[in-house]
Amino acid sequence: MTTHDPLLHARALVLSDLGAQGLIDAHTVSVVEDCVAQRRWWLSQWQQGAAFVNGLVAQDVQDALFDESRRWPLCVGCADPLEHSLSIEPELGPDPHWVCSASGAKVAALGGLRPLMTSD
Ligand SMILES: [Zn+2]
Repeated sequence: MTTHDPLLHARALVLSDLGAQGLIDAHTVSVVEDCVAQRRWWLSQWQQGAAFVNGLVAQDVQDALFDESRRWPLCVGCADPLEHSLSIEPELGPDPHWVCSASGAKVAALGGLRPLMTSD
């Protein structure tokens, strides 16, 4: 492998964080594929955008799921009983990470969400 495909990396990071919250299924994978395909076109128009695609793909997937009334990723670190999500910061920049939308606390790097505890 001599070529590095930034979108394959973005795809892997987003799938990892979907998986951490138990959201990998045929539908969400196809949502990710659609977002990656759109960003591939975008990147072909603006190659300097390669540094930003990880965070952008994550936000695209988040928006697509939100349109289906699915919140991802959920914040599990707060005592706040109201369900709230994490968001990507910076929105357009290198080294994107998830921050709690309520407290602003940095939770994890993109691709670094820990699996949810499963309770029974
Ligand atoms: Zn929170």
